[in-house]
Amino acid sequence: MTPEERYSRQVLFRGIGAEGQRRLGAARLCVVGCGAIGSAVASLLARAGVGTLRIIDRDYVEPSNLQRQSLFDENDAVESVPKAIAAARKIAAFNSEIVVEPQVADLTPANVGTLLAHSDLLLDGTDNFETRYLVNDYAIEQSVPWIYAAAVGSYGVTMNILPGETACLACVFPASPRGVVETCDTSGILNSAVNLVASIQATEALKLLVGARDRLRRTLLSFDVWTNERSEIEAADPRPDCQTCVQREFIHLEGQGRPHITLCGRNSVQIHERERPIDFAEMSERLKPHGIVRHNELVLKFWRDDYEMTLFPDGRAIIKGTTDTAIARSLYARYVGS
Ligand SMILES: [Zn+2]
Repeated sequence: MTPEERYSRQVLFRGIGAEGQRRLGAARLCVVGCGAIGSAVASLLARAGVGTLRIIDRDYVEPSNLQRQSLFDENDAVESVPKAIAAARKIAAFNSEIVVEPQVADLTPANVGTLLAHSDLLLDGTDNFETRYLVNDYAIEQSVPWIYAAAVGSYGVTMNILPGETACLACVFPASPRGVVETCDTSGILNSAVNLVASIQATEALKLLVGARDRLRRTLLSFDVWTNERSEIEAADPRPDCQTCVQREFIHLEGQGRPHITLCGRNSVQIHERERPIDFAEMSERLKPHGIVRHNELVLKFWRDDYEMTLFPDGRAIIKGTTDTAIARSLYARYVGS
């Protein structure tokens, strides 16, 4: 199959053309977080022929993801495959001509410079404002465009951030709306809201990558697919007193280490206090007397009492069954080591 055949219908579209398609093929994109929105936007842009796609995700596939996370299947959930790996495998099955770089990692101030390096555009597929502020700081400091996107319930919201031109995330949300904002856990989520927001995000990405900057939307767009409410807030210019894009204070890039994070929508805590490789075979032997243990080459799972611990090869762990970071930390210290 030739690239001419594969992309023929897209090249026919006047906004793309042969030159646009060539530019897409030369582009490097980074999808930060590969849950529902990340899956949908990565799938669209991989099919559209973006040359290199880096996919960063810290989590593994679970049955409750399958309703909306379109790059994963039942087998991925049974095997607890890390989402970045599962996404790369799925994309390779429908477009083996592009390069996909899966990164099983949590984006932190310590690794953001490495993980987001050399990208033409960053796409938000995260589920939390902490990571979004980190991406925003990096994008403004390095002058890399990024596209914010979020969905919860039947509601979706998205905004293009063009450093040096438009408002940034901190212009619109100076402080994290945490506490007042609903989560997937409390409100559920419709897969159609996800796909709509990801479609808009992917289209804005195409415009940017082919050089159609005059077509880019310069508003914060939100809609509710259930109530049909829709709104747009002007975001063409930075807020004059924005700490991030005007005063250029990158507090999130300088942020302290984040030893524990409670994941969105789940009764679980992430631990990544230290980075050290774990030998799964050896760890499995050590844990056997204390509970049920199972591993493949990608993850090790350990069940004890009401807790389920998932260990990654770099020593990071997700502990399910608690939101108490002290309990999670003591389980980790006891069974994995401190
Ligand atoms: Zn700003």
